[in-house]
Amino acid sequence: MKIVKVEVFKFTTPKNTGENVSRGPGWPTDLPWAIYPDIIEHMKHIPNLAGGAAVVKITAENGMYGLGSTGLYRQAAEIIEDHLKPMLIGLDCEEIEYIWHLMYLSTSAWGRAGLAMQAISAVDIALWDLKGKLYNQPVYQLLGGKVRDRIKVYATGLAFEDYRDMGYKAVKIPRPYGLVDGKEGMRKTVKCIEYVKKVMGDDTEIAIDVWCAWDVEYTIKLCTMMKDLNIRWIEEPVPADDYEGYHRIKDALNSMGILVSGGEHEFTRWGTRTLIERDCVDLLQSDIWYTGGLSEIRKINALAKAKNLMLVPHCHGMPVFHFSVSSLTSPFAETLLFNQITEPSRLFLGEPKVDNGFIDVPDRPGLGYELNYDWGPCIKLSE
Ligand SMILES: [Mg+2]
Repeated sequence: MKIVKVEVFKFTTPKNTGENVSRGPGWPTDLPWAIYPDIIEHMKHIPNLAGGAAVVKITAENGMYGLGSTGLYRQAAEIIEDHLKPMLIGLDCEEIEYIWHLMYLSTSAWGRAGLAMQAISAVDIALWDLKGKLYNQPVYQLLGGKVRDRIKVYATGLAFEDYRDMGYKAVKIPRPYGLVDGKEGMRKTVKCIEYVKKVMGDDTEIAIDVWCAWDVEYTIKLCTMMKDLNIRWIEEPVPADDYEGYHRIKDALNSMGILVSGGEHEFTRWGTRTLIERDCVDLLQSDIWYTGGLSEIRKINALAKAKNLMLVPHCHGMPVFHFSVSSLTSPFAETLLFNQITEPSRLFLGEPKVDNGFIDVPDRPGLGYELNYDWGPCIKLSE
């Protein structure tokens, strides 16, 4: 079935005012560059940091279409429009493995990771959605079928009372304080974890997402202070390239019963293989929208399974849910709630609601979603 049309949409979200409008009160501003306080004000006004998305719609000759996206860095839209789209027209949309390899080779001189891999991810996700529709099957069936009936989910965010009321038993907290906050920040972090346990219950599973913003010494010292608080994992404690730092942290934290996760900011099987081979993590959190789409996370999944690691993809949405429900290495999944508890504004319509800490994956054909054109200001790059 030939690809006859590729449409590319670039969504923008309101400029970041520094008030964390979309993420709720208390969302940390101590991103990795916070070690340079003079630059913080400047960084707040770079629109990329406020999100946005690139979306691709791929139509086959029978009129059916698939949708794929990549978030946060909408410039991937230009790569799809200028480089991938001319190549895709006329190809057989069912030959996803061949198309992935072609996209990878054609961008490898300047790609292999970053925006180029995000563009490839969006196209790959759209092709899986389209294939599911062509076969009248949900994508999880194409991925091997369900290995569990429902997906247990954890909440990421700071609205602990709401998560408790929604039935969540697990939460991931964006680091409340960072390197610039020193020892006082460490003490406040401990108090924050104690508060979470008080609100959500002592048995609540707790993780802390550092988003690459700490270093080895800080991480080990703080985790030593928290060793009796039953933290399940620390996520991305150091920059993604710091494999040695990861390994040293994993050594120290494992002895306290704390796991280390990483991979959200890593790309493809090759980047992730380095994290695995250098014994950096217990838990992989590759992002389907960054790492190379559903095709690539299947390969990463095989690496994870061979090493007896968990692979719980970063972020949420239909591609994650279809993957997780069909993956033996993914016993649970993430739901990003921020402060949008009641009815989150989503780029795609049709996402399942959380039911007492679980999600049911819909059995509609493909990924079972539709683009929400009203999500934010949208530009269609061309006809
Ligand atoms: Mg993360």
